Amino acid sequence: MKSINQEDKTITSLRYNSRMSPTNKPLQPRIGISSCLLGENVRYDGGNTKNDYITEELSRQFEFIPYCPEVAVGMGIPRPPIQLVAFNGEIRAQGIDNPAMDITLALHKYAKKIAQEIDDLSGYIFKKNSPSCGIKDVKVLVGTDKYELRGQGLFAAEIMRQLPDLPVINEQQLTDETLRHQFMDNVRTYYQTNQQ
Ligand code: SF4
Repeated sequence: MKSINQEDKTITSLRYNSRMSPTNKPLQPRIGISSCLLGENVRYDGGNTKNDYITEELSRQFEFIPYCPEVAVGMGIPRPPIQLVAFNGEIRAQGIDNPAMDITLALHKYAKKIAQEIDDLSGYIFKKNSPSCGIKDVKVLVGTDKYELRGQGLFAAEIMRQLPDLPVINEQQLTDETLRHQFMDNVRTYYQTNQQ
C-alpha cells in the first residue's frame, strides 16, 4: 500500500484531459470531481465508482481536477468506513465501527484549504451519498440506531459554504436532462465570467 503522502500527492495533482492555451489558461472549463467517479481506486474498500458518462462524454468538454478528501486527510486505502452522526447539535464524521475515529475537523480544514486553491475551477461534480462528498440527503445517524436522510458530506458542505456561487451537482442529478443542462450552462457562464 502506498503511503498517505504519496496518495495525496498523486490524487490531488492528477489532471484529467488537461489542455492549456499558449498563455497558460485552461482551454476548457475545469471541474473539480470526486476521484472515485473517474475510476480512481480510492474508496474505503479500494474500489471506485467510475461513471462512464463523465469519463467518456463530459471529458470531451471539461477538464477534471479530482480530489478524494478521505485519502487526503490521511485515512489511506483501504480504510475503515465512516458515517455522519448527529451529536450535540452538530453533524460529525465518525468511524462506523469505531466512533472514536472522528475526522470532522480534518475534513473541514482540508475543504477550507482546497477552496482557497481552486480559484480556477468552474464547477464541481460530487459523489452522491458520501459522508464526505455528498451534497444532499446523506444518511445521518441520530441516536443509537435511527438514520435520517438529511446530511451533506462534510467536505462538500464546506466547499459549498466557501464558494457559494460555484455550480455543483452529483452523478445522479447528471442523469436528469434538465439539471444536467442547467449545470453545464452555469459552468460555462462561471468560466467565461472568470476568464475576463
Ligand atoms: S466519495 Fe469522496 S471521499 Fe469517498 S472515495 Fe469518492 S472521492 Fe473519496
